[in-house]
Parts: sequence; C-alpha cells; structure tokens
Amino acid sequence: MKNFLNLAMRTFNANFSQSTVFIEGKNKFESNEILVDYLNKIDYHGFLEEIRKINTLLSQLQLTTDMSYDIVKNYPALCNELENRCNKIDGFMRSYPPYNFKEYDEDISLIETLHKIDCVLIRDGDDQGYYLDEYNVINRDYDPDIHEGIFEINKYLKTYVGVYVGFLQSVYDALTFIESFIEDVISVRTSFPEDSYIAKKLDEHRKDKPLKHSGANCHIESFNYETVTDDAGVSMLCENVEFSDIGSFLYYDFFNGLKHKNYPVKCNNCGRVFLLTGGKFTQYCDSRIKGKSGQTCRSLGARQRYDDKCKSDPIWNTYNKAYKAHYARMMKKKMTKQEFMEWGEYALELKRQVIAEEISYDEYYMLIRK
Ligand SMILES: [Zn+2]
Repeated sequence: MKNFLNLAMRTFNANFSQSTVFIEGKNKFESNEILVDYLNKIDYHGFLEEIRKINTLLSQLQLTTDMSYDIVKNYPALCNELENRCNKIDGFMRSYPPYNFKEYDEDISLIETLHKIDCVLIRDGDDQGYYLDEYNVINRDYDPDIHEGIFEINKYLKTYVGVYVGFLQSVYDALTFIESFIEDVISVRTSFPEDSYIAKKLDEHRKDKPLKHSGANCHIESFNYETVTDDAGVSMLCENVEFSDIGSFLYYDFFNGLKHKNYPVKCNNCGRVFLLTGGKFTQYCDSRIKGKSGQTCRSLGARQRYDDKCKSDPIWNTYNKAYKAHYARMMKKKMTKQEFMEWGEYALELKRQVIAEEISYDEYYMLIRK
C-alpha cells in the first residue's frame, strides 16, 4: 500500500560542511539558520495540547467491539475532524525546511483511504458520504475478512497520526531544550563563548534542567561522508546525515553551529532570536524598531549600555560629562571643530590610561575637565 508506506517515511538528508548545511544535497543554509526560523515563527508551546486532542480522537476512532453508539454514528465526522487537524500540521510542516524541499504524493482523504481498506466503512446509497458498518464492527460474526479490515484500519490510523504527532513532539522537545539553552547560556554573554564554556554549561544544564533536556535527543538513520559541489564548482567533503525527524536535525545542527561559531542569540530588546556569525558579540539584533526611524535594537542597546555604564562607573560618568561640556564649547564657537576632535582623542586616551591604572583617578578627573 503505497500511501501507507509514504506516510511513515518522512526522512530527509542534510550535508554538513563547517558552518554550511545543504538540505537534500543542494539547498544551502547557514548552520542554525533553520533553527532561528523555527524559533521565531513557531509557537511550539501549544503543541502538547494539540497532541492530546489528536490522541483522544485517535483512541475514539479505534474500532472495537464495545464502541459507543455516539461514536459509531459520528465516525465519519470524527474522521474529518482528525483529518482537518492533521492537514493543518501537514501544511505547516511543508512550509518550512527541510520538508518544503520534499515531494510528496497527492493527498488522498483519510476516509477514502479507510474505505479502500474495505469491509468496515461503507459508502451510502446516494454516494454522499460514508458510514461505519456497525453491524459488522460491533456485532461481527467471526468473519476473517472483517477482522482483517478492522486490524488494518486501526493500524493505518495509528501510522497516519504518528506522522503528525511525531512532528509536533519532536519540534516541541528540541525547541524546549534549545531555547532555554540559548537564554541561559548564550544570550547572557558579553563576548563570544569558548568551546570549554559551552561544554561546562551543557553539563550544568543537564543537571539543573533535566526535564527540558530529557526529550532532546538525536536519532540518526544513517551517517556517511559525501562530496557536495557548490554553485562556484568547489567540492566539499561533507558529513551526510539522514534524519528521521526534524527535532534530531535541529539538535544536531545546533551543536554543529556552536562548534563553528554560528550562535543563535535572543535579542535583549525585541526577544527575537538572531544568528550571530562573527564580528563583535552583541545581545541585540539589527531589526529596525517600528516608529523610530533609523533605530535598530542594536543601536538602542549600545545607547542603553552606555547610559548604564555612565550611571554605574565614575570613570565613564566623568568622561560623559566632560564630553558634553566640550561639545557645548564647540557649539558656542569657543572651540573649533578641529580642536574638539583632537580633545576627543585625548579624552579617550586618558580614559584608557585610567582604566589601565597608568594614571590615578584624581589625575584623570583633573586632566579630562580642562
Ligand atoms: Zn531585536
């Protein structure tokens, strides 16, 4: 049964070369780019409730000899409800990598598939819909064909639901762990972390938050080395990993990204996760702030840090006051622009010297205010 097998096989391939990832051998991403997309666009917190609802429907739809009359009567309607919920997840799944790169067979409706399994679901006379052959299911005589049909339907439903529940659960498990790790370990940094820091924090995290870590795991179908040639014709030796679920990919790619200095960081201003791949470490993303032209989270963050420093550090406070006083002198034409620029360099040098303890604070205070 083709449809049946196809459902259960949602594996995909990813090639890893340093901080580059290729999905299905050709779709190029930065390591942790897909993760950042999932974290920003998917509210996974409601997934457990959705899984519960789907599992309830699944257990109601399992054919048994003691099904309630209500469920027998509503069997096709309940099938539709289950299918609608799963279709929503399916659409969602196919709109994000890696599944947006995979081709799937045409959809066949759940109830039609069940009807094809035979003997139990019957099309009504006007060809308007289906009904459950309650006589056969509930009062079944010992007919081996019907037993076979019931068995097949129950098995099919479990496989069908398993694809979607599996997807939700695997996203939920991976993102729960990864998001808390990003918040507790990476976003609190003021400089790029060393590998040894990440290693130590991973151990601590496993001890402190075992629940958040318990679901995150990596299941690999197969592993190999493979050559991928990029658009410029350069060959790269890649790890080729076949994953059976998205959570395993996200987990694997997360640590691969950290090893190659691709850090997902949660912005201290807007709360979105952004990917930091080099330059200076920052806790602020570069998205524009609505209603404040030209301002980004990063420029706001820099301003905020400067203000905080001036409040808490007398060296910075003195520097800031002297800067403002000299700036005012220039504006009142008591100082030329050139003189102000020269003073600015001199003031920075004085600040460097007092921080390095080459001059005393009193000396610094006296010189910078001149
Ligand atoms: Zn931001």
